[in-house]
Amino acid sequence: MSEAKNKLIVVSAPSGCGKGTILERVFDADKAYYSVSCTTRKPREGEENGRHYFFITNDEFERMIADNRFLEYAGYADHYYGTPRSKVEENLAAGKDVILEIETKGAFQVKKKRSDAILLFILPPSVKELDRRLHKRGTETEEVISKRLDQAVGEIKRAYEYDYVIMNDELEDAVRDFETVINAERNKDGSADRFRADNEDIKNMIGEVLDNA
Ligand code: ADP
Ligand code: 5GP
Repeated sequence: MSEAKNKLIVVSAPSGCGKGTILERVFDADKAYYSVSCTTRKPREGEENGRHYFFITNDEFERMIADNRFLEYAGYADHYYGTPRSKVEENLAAGKDVILEIETKGAFQVKKKRSDAILLFILPPSVKELDRRLHKRGTETEEVISKRLDQAVGEIKRAYEYDYVIMNDELEDAVRDFETVINAERNKDGSADRFRADNEDIKNMIGEVLDNA
C-alpha cells in the first residue's frame, strides 16, 4: 500500500509566537481541516463556540476523557485542552491535510499514537519579543500574559524533540520555511533537512533563545 499524501501536521509554539498568523497564510481552509479543540477556558472577545474552540465545562471535558473521545488532551495554564478524535480521523480518511495547533504534551501524545504525524515547532526570536507580541495582540490580562511567558521557556526546551523547528522572526520568511517543510514531507526529497531539530544549526538556534530568556 502506498503512503497517503495527505498529512497530519502538529504545530506547537509558545502562545503569541504567531502560529495562528502563519497557519492562516499557509493552508487553504477548503483543502485542509483545522481541528477545533475543546477547552475549559472562557472565550476571548471575538471567539466563537465551534469555530475557535468548543468551550465546555470541566465536567463535560472529563466525561469526554472517560468516553475516550480525545486523540490527545492536556492541562495548560489551569485549563484543559483536547483534540476530538472523530473529526481528525474522518478528514484524514477523506484525504485532507489535518492541522492540530496544540501545546507540547499533546503533540507528543499524538506522535506516540500516529508516528506518521509531522511535529513542527515555531520558535519566537526571543522571549522578550513574545512578551511584546502578547501585549500587541491585547487579548489577555497581565496575569495571563505572565503565566504564558512562564510556560514558554518550558515549551521551547521541548523543541529539540520535534521533527522540524522554524523561527517566526520575519513573517514572510516563516511562511516560506513552513511551506518548505510541508512540501519536503509531501515529496520526500529532504529539501527541508536544514530545519530538522537534530541539525546542529537548529540546536544552536534553540539554545540561543533559551540562553537569552
Ligand atoms: P499564536 O497563534 O501563536 O498565539 P498569533 O498568531 O495570535 O499567535 O500572533 C500573536 C501576535 O503577534 C499577533 O498580534 C500577530 O499579528 C503578531 N505576529 C505574528 N507573527 C509576527 C511576526 N513575524 N512579526 C511581528 N508580529 C507578529
Ligand atoms: P490559547 O488559550 O492561547 O488558545 O491556547 C493555549 C495553548 O493551548 C496553546 O499552546 C495552544 O496551542 C494549546 N492548545 C489548543 N488546543 C489544544 C488541544 O486540543 N490540545 C492541546 N494539548 N493543546 C491545545
